[in-house]
Amino acid sequence: MRDVWIRDTLSGERRALAAEEEVGIYACGPTVYSRIHIGNARPFVVFSLFAGFLRSEGYRARLVVNITDINDKIYEAARGVGEPSAEFAARMANSYLEDTGRLGLGRPDAEPLASETIESIVALISDLIESGHAYESGGDVYFRVRSFDGYGKLSNRRAEDMDQGEEAGSASLKEDTLDFALWKAHKDDEDTSWDSPWGPGRPGWHIECSAMAENELGPSFAIHGGGSDLVFPHHENEIAQSEGAGRPFARAWMHNGMIEIDAEKMSKSEGNIFQLSEALDRYGREAVVDYLVSGHYRQPLAFGPEQMEQAVARVERLRNFFREQPAAGEHGEVDSFVEERAAAFRDALAEDFNTPRAMAEAFELVAEANRRRLPGASAALREMLALLGLDSLAETEQGAGAEAEALLAERQEARAARDFARADEIRDRLAALGWEVRDAADGARLVPRGRT
Ligand SMILES: [Zn+2]
Repeated sequence: MRDVWIRDTLSGERRALAAEEEVGIYACGPTVYSRIHIGNARPFVVFSLFAGFLRSEGYRARLVVNITDINDKIYEAARGVGEPSAEFAARMANSYLEDTGRLGLGRPDAEPLASETIESIVALISDLIESGHAYESGGDVYFRVRSFDGYGKLSNRRAEDMDQGEEAGSASLKEDTLDFALWKAHKDDEDTSWDSPWGPGRPGWHIECSAMAENELGPSFAIHGGGSDLVFPHHENEIAQSEGAGRPFARAWMHNGMIEIDAEKMSKSEGNIFQLSEALDRYGREAVVDYLVSGHYRQPLAFGPEQMEQAVARVERLRNFFREQPAAGEHGEVDSFVEERAAAFRDALAEDFNTPRAMAEAFELVAEANRRRLPGASAALREMLALLGLDSLAETEQGAGAEAEALLAERQEARAARDFARADEIRDRLAALGWEVRDAADGARLVPRGRT
């Protein structure tokens, strides 16, 4: 078991994870008001792979990724398409499960919904009112920011630089403009509401996460994660709520950098590859996952066709290696160079989950194995790539011709029956076999992955 450490956003320091305790990780999931984009996929991939790596090292990890299904943006988007907001949110949540399912990394241990956590949310707000950190005003409940001493410690902001980003209409109900909503009274244009001691209404976004994290991981847990855009106000407010209510809350914070899009380079012909499902359709599962681990999780990552083509080329290099040196042909002997690269790969992941450094070790192994006979290289590489969800690259398409053709026929039948979930599933299986489906007016055909 390696000592694994991460860089904690709150202290700015290295934090070693305790091997004897459960490593509970709560990562903020999407607000389901649209199909998710590649930016939402980054925390999903980073935290899923990180939890898997911890398990492979013998840690007990538990990953929770919530789904925010009550939010202003959802009411607005549902009104836009003339659909009841609860149905709209459920439909978008299903799309999220489907899109992230196609990444092939399994599901988090728990995926709580805000709409199923109302009781705990109301109890937490009641605690805050009782302890003087919150107050009711006109059917709303607000958090009294100046009552909480540590406010601003995560984002290092001063009070005058803080804007809660809440609608102007609530200002007259607040004691202080710094305060933020925990509960919002029902409004006429909202088609859902829940009962509470303060009348019908709905929770604010921040309190949803405080309650869901505690429900799933208890009052104290190892890591709270999410995108760096959530540091303020979302995570700052989560700390104020949970610590204000007497909970120790997260012991460390882990934030992923933003996906940055060069709008000029994204010509219209590229379509909407910013949407995860589109990127998966176009580049395949492995290239999308490879792209998302190609930069260190804390750094921003540029996104565009250029970056995706580079990812396609990298996964193809790996796939070709397995085609030429299949792991099945190896017989237990392992070269010391192979052992060193495999250990260095894991060391890189143990040091603040440095995936680009780990991948550099993988490619060094490939380069050396192409130069000289390197017993054990293929099996070791397959094990390394499994830690990043890319071991399917070792499944080459040799002998898969008939199977691939049968799958393609099955996919056409599913599409004809408008069973698109099944059709997507089959396309993923084909991708794992090394085939890409190209749809054209006169039918679909199979092209080896990564070739144009
Ligand atoms: Zn959250």
